Amino acid sequence: MTTTRFAPSPTGYIHVGNLRTALMNYLIAQKAGGTFVLRLDDTDPERSTQEFADGIKEDLTWLGLNWDRSEKQSERLDRYNEAADHLRASGRLYECFDTPVELDLKRKKLLNMGKPPVYDRSALDLSEAEKDVLRKERGAGHWRFKLDQERIEFKDGILGDLSIDAASVSDPVLIRGDGQFLYTLASVCDDIDYGITYVVRGSDHVTNTATQIQIIQALGGTVPSFAHHSLLTGPQGEALSKRLGTLALRDLRAQGIQPMALLSHMARIGTSDPVELRTDMAELIEGFDISHFGAAPTKFDVDDLLPLTAHYNQGLAFEKVAETIKALGVPDDQAEAFWAVASANITVLDDLKGWWELCRDGATPLVDDEDKEFVAQALSMLPEGALDSETWGSWTKAVKEATGRKGRGLFMPLRKALTGMEHGPDMSHLLPLLQNVKRA
Ligand code: GLU
Repeated sequence: MTTTRFAPSPTGYIHVGNLRTALMNYLIAQKAGGTFVLRLDDTDPERSTQEFADGIKEDLTWLGLNWDRSEKQSERLDRYNEAADHLRASGRLYECFDTPVELDLKRKKLLNMGKPPVYDRSALDLSEAEKDVLRKERGAGHWRFKLDQERIEFKDGILGDLSIDAASVSDPVLIRGDGQFLYTLASVCDDIDYGITYVVRGSDHVTNTATQIQIIQALGGTVPSFAHHSLLTGPQGEALSKRLGTLALRDLRAQGIQPMALLSHMARIGTSDPVELRTDMAELIEGFDISHFGAAPTKFDVDDLLPLTAHYNQGLAFEKVAETIKALGVPDDQAEAFWAVASANITVLDDLKGWWELCRDGATPLVDDEDKEFVAQALSMLPEGALDSETWGSWTKAVKEATGRKGRGLFMPLRKALTGMEHGPDMSHLLPLLQNVKRA
């Protein structure tokens, strides 16, 4: 049974970077008919907030990435304690008293000698008496996991065969001096207990994977499969990390980006598969294959979401937008005709507002000097009373006969005078919707 998880820390909102992780895990579980777990990594009480936890759930729900099970680490401290005891008993967890300043000095010294800045395990040599003294002087120590210094090998679903020498990695701290469990221990316990079979996450976690595999084994768990996707960069390959704050899902939602447009894009960038709009999740699940993703950093351009959103919106059936259109104040008997005319000319649904304002209030006419007389004459020829779908054709025919103008020279000045724009909907369809055409 395939079980995946998305494990954000509720210290911020979901942005396009971690959305990719969520989506991949969701799609893998769905495709396999398995379980998708939402796990809130909230062991840090200072930075985790309920507001972010609620926000994460709200954003996932907006996208339709529904989870089968939701868990939070702050409720599992007893379990982490038990795991820590187990590791202590088997000699894999040891107490250290090095201060941040001391650690920093040691790190710098090793770097100066051209060596990797790996923790020297000096705490392993402390006698019980020495530890007692240090505990009195410095308070409770922090606890590190003692790695087996051997090569750790695993097959990554995206990066292929990986091998990391544990001797080149510091023994990871699992418990801080203040007793707070760190993510590494909590995550491993959860992955074991929830039966996670596949961990997909960003490539910034590759080294964690090596140490986590050893901790899982030390706790008697089954090692899941792993895949690490590349990180996103901006369109020119620039780091996106600093801009991610402005690429939160709620910002994209506020800009009118459609969930399926966003998901269609995120499920394919970084693969050689074409990015095509999928309008339902089943299609997205069907075409998804984690092995199609490459290791190279993936370029992300927020502007790419606009054509997909336009495509999605333009294909919406009237019933889907009826409420939005009603809310604009479009009379019921014109709503469907309005959608038929405006839909092809929008990117986001908010663009409908501008089209409705044009229909309701008219536009500031755009008339070039050389067209002034022509436009005045043409407008005076507009038939009185209601305009219908025949009006544009019969009117422009009459104007053509009266003025001798034809083609672009005939149609463009009239479009600009009536709409204030050079582009827009088919005038024969738009004209009947214009409520306020000035005939002179
Ligand atoms: N809370 C971790 C993060 O957001 C989870 C990493 C993982 O997937 O294991 O980076």
